Amino acid sequence: MILCPKCNAVINLPRCHKCKHQVANNNDIWQLTDMPDFVIDGDQGKYIGY
Ligand SMILES: [Zn+2]
Repeated sequence: MILCPKCNAVINLPRCHKCKHQVANNNDIWQLTDMPDFVIDGDQGKYIGY
């Protein structure tokens, strides 16, 4: 489960259907926060977030 960094809605990558925020993908890692040390292996791939 991935939450939008802007509005905290549950989203399907790469785009939030609610606020239209587009999540950036850098080296196959979804950029969900500005904290680059926090890489998580999720069911939709690696992402940075909570
Ligand atoms: Zn959103």
